[in-house]
Amino acid sequence: MRCAVIGAGPTGCLAARVLANAGAHVSLIDPALALSGRARPQAGHVHVLPAPLWPRLERLAPGLLSTLADLGVRFGSVGATTLDGEIGGTAVPWPDRARLDAALLDRCRHGLDLHAARVRRCTWDDSRWQVALGDGAELSADLLVDASGVSRVSFRSIAALVGAPIPVDVGPSGGAYASVSLRGLSLPRGRLGHRVQDEATGHRAILLQESQDRWRLTLQLGAGTPLPHTPEALVEILQSFRDRRLQLLVHHATEVGPLATWAAQRPTRAALETLRGLPEGWLPLGDALLTTPPALGQGIAQIVYQVAHLESQHRAGHSVERIRTDLCSAAGQQWMMATFLVGLDAA
Ligand SMILES: Cc1cc2nc3c(=O)[nH]c(=O)nc-3n(C[C@H](O)[C@H](O)[C@H](O)COP(=O)(O)OP(=O)(O)OC[C@H]3O[C@@H](n4cnc5c(N)ncnc54)[C@H](O)[C@@H]3O)c2cc1C
Repeated sequence: MRCAVIGAGPTGCLAARVLANAGAHVSLIDPALALSGRARPQAGHVHVLPAPLWPRLERLAPGLLSTLADLGVRFGSVGATTLDGEIGGTAVPWPDRARLDAALLDRCRHGLDLHAARVRRCTWDDSRWQVALGDGAELSADLLVDASGVSRVSFRSIAALVGAPIPVDVGPSGGAYASVSLRGLSLPRGRLGHRVQDEATGHRAILLQESQDRWRLTLQLGAGTPLPHTPEALVEILQSFRDRRLQLLVHHATEVGPLATWAAQRPTRAALETLRGLPEGWLPLGDALLTTPPALGQGIAQIVYQVAHLESQHRAGHSVERIRTDLCSAAGQQWMMATFLVGLDAA
């Protein structure tokens, strides 16, 4: 079987790996493969992933943890937050997104056919996909995996095939993010982080150590709160928390570098179950299928669930159509949870 996977983000890398492990010839296509660092809005943002996720990620991409360590990623724990919000317990990595992507690609790429190009067009001729790339190349595939995130690159082709627009459910707006690097915190030795959730406003704040003398403070704002545009405004939001401990920790800190912000992202779900006549060899995965507000762990958790499902169901000989139907129904559940900003605990 020949597979074309669009997008080399976490979804594309992991899906390409499990399909190649199952004996498929896999082409992984992404213009970002040509870049040494990954150009993403969340590239510098520490990705907080629940502890139960790491053994699953390590199983899908063996050697991931040691590669992250080689890349200088610090280890701490978010799996065992103590009652006072301190982070401690089993060590798991706290990767920024750029290094997580680099490590995933490193652990997944062997034996894959890599194309550093943009997918321009996908056409289906009743049995095979023809995938036209920006560099003029054309690939042919039995299975097209769309892991292009919110770009949803193949959706227009699919809509043309079934003669209907792809329905997308849009949930209520999720929270916005603001993040800044700090220096000059006086934290007890060995304390790697702290997190707080404010029940009244729905805000969450997390402080993670980035290096010897740098910390990253990230706020996820409850729905409807406008983005702060200065570090002072961010600290002002922190002052509204009932729990003042985190505010006290950063009180004398100075910021390093600019404040990074991300506007609230509305969770969307491709509601494909209402469409008839979808081609057998088409599988959207990851953020292409379900975009949720990044509720500190939700995004990658859903990806790991989806890829593990693809792996087990493909091994059991189930059709792509059946796998797609299962994943669409699971995405429906996750979308509901995302609406209320409840993170998935484990995939
Ligand atoms: C600010 C922020 C913070 C977040 N924090 C967390 C967190 O702490 N924990 C967590 O679990 N999740 C978090 N997330 C969510 C997580 O980043 C996403 O769920 C995840 O990136 C989705 O992965 P993906 O591979 O499906 O899509 P993406 O990561 O978006 O990858 C899609 C890939 O497709 C490629 N592509 C696009 N168009 C084309 C084309 N035409 N041809 C070829 N390739 C193409 C892109 O270059 C890209 O590499 C956060 C998101 C944001 C924005």
